[in-house]
Amino acid sequence: MPSSKNKRIVRDLAIQRIRWLYKLSINAIKRNDKELARRYVDLILSISRKANVRLPRLVKRSICRNCKIPLIPGVTARVRLKSDGKSSWVIIKCLECGWIYRYPYKPRKECQLEGGKSEHI
Ligand SMILES: [Zn+2]
Repeated sequence: MPSSKNKRIVRDLAIQRIRWLYKLSINAIKRNDKELARRYVDLILSISRKANVRLPRLVKRSICRNCKIPLIPGVTARVRLKSDGKSSWVIIKCLECGWIYRYPYKPRKECQLEGGKSEHI
């Protein structure tokens, strides 16, 4: 089916663009240009909406949903691990707006991106 094939190409392109923009936004933060970084994050979110693609987990968890800043440990975010014996959590605090994110953390299954690709951004 040509139409579904086209859709897949559009999605692949969207994911590639998202990864590229994510890198650019991290670089912008490193240059302390937070406004530029936020603009890239805005683009990432609108591409994901328009192309109807889910953000790669790594990207999704590295963006503050509240203030649209890329979350970089030690720069724009504070990351902690918490455990109650049964389960572990990653606690990410956005240092820009104070928003707090909690994600379940499974030590054995770390670093798996969605789609099972081991590609790094
Ligand atoms: Zn924030």
